[in-house]
Amino acid sequence: MLIVLLGPPGAGKGTQAERIVNDHNLAYISTGDILRTAVKEDTPLGSKAREYMDQGQLVPDHLVVEIVRERLQEPDCSKGALLDGFPRTVDQAIFLDQMLPDISQKVDQVLLINVDEEELVERLTGRRVCSDCGANYHVKYNPPAVRNVCDQCGGDLYQRDDDSLETVKERLEVYKKQTEPLVKFYQDKGIISYIDGNKNIGEVFDQINSALNSL
Ligand code: ADP
Ligand code: ADP
Ligand code: ZN
Repeated sequence: MLIVLLGPPGAGKGTQAERIVNDHNLAYISTGDILRTAVKEDTPLGSKAREYMDQGQLVPDHLVVEIVRERLQEPDCSKGALLDGFPRTVDQAIFLDQMLPDISQKVDQVLLINVDEEELVERLTGRRVCSDCGANYHVKYNPPAVRNVCDQCGGDLYQRDDDSLETVKERLEVYKKQTEPLVKFYQDKGIISYIDGNKNIGEVFDQINSALNSL
């Protein structure tokens, strides 16, 4: 089983992903996390991707598609996977459809999480991330028990470079231009479930569970 999480930056994809993979026993694939690790470790991929990410632009399709192709071949993906942040262009979605028969998978469901734009800005500029385990927090909406310390692993929390107001605005524009066309792409396949992401974290998860349980 393959599930795709689609939605603008800040919609809550990472937050929900953590809960979905626990409950539904899926491998987790976040291209954003994989790219951030590559940048941090200064690998060849990281040095190619850094500039795009810092500017809030998409990393070129051919780089991202290779990441996913390799990741999907890892053993934990045989039980199925949750894709977070991929595909992000129609071309990426077409590549994905072409690589899936090789591993006997298909995209079963796309969960589209939508949130009002003002709220997205608020969520992204207040986001904090664990430097050790990647868990997501928000200074107001989802604060850790101890300021700047991860509840799950005790790691330090940091603010992503691309969560500054200016880069957030650019990323939202990039979403509208390059990623939103995917909504029609998956609508035409009849596999989208619409999730109202404006609700609180628990209520959003309930909607996702109803969508997944009706598969
Ligand atoms: P968010 O969860 O806030 O939407 P991500 O962590 O998914 O952000 O992505 C961070 C950045 O990594 C993006 O702005 C982009 O530069 C790059 N990136 C992640 N996934 C992709 C992808 N599928 N295609 C191109 N670039 C990507
Ligand atoms: P995405 O992966 O789609 O970019 P995240 O899951 O990282 O989004 O969430 C963005 C920010 O909003 C984080 O700081 C997170 O704690 C917070 N957040 C996520 N879901 C909700 C929600 N339903 N209500 C309020 N804040 C939320
Ligand atoms: Zn942590």
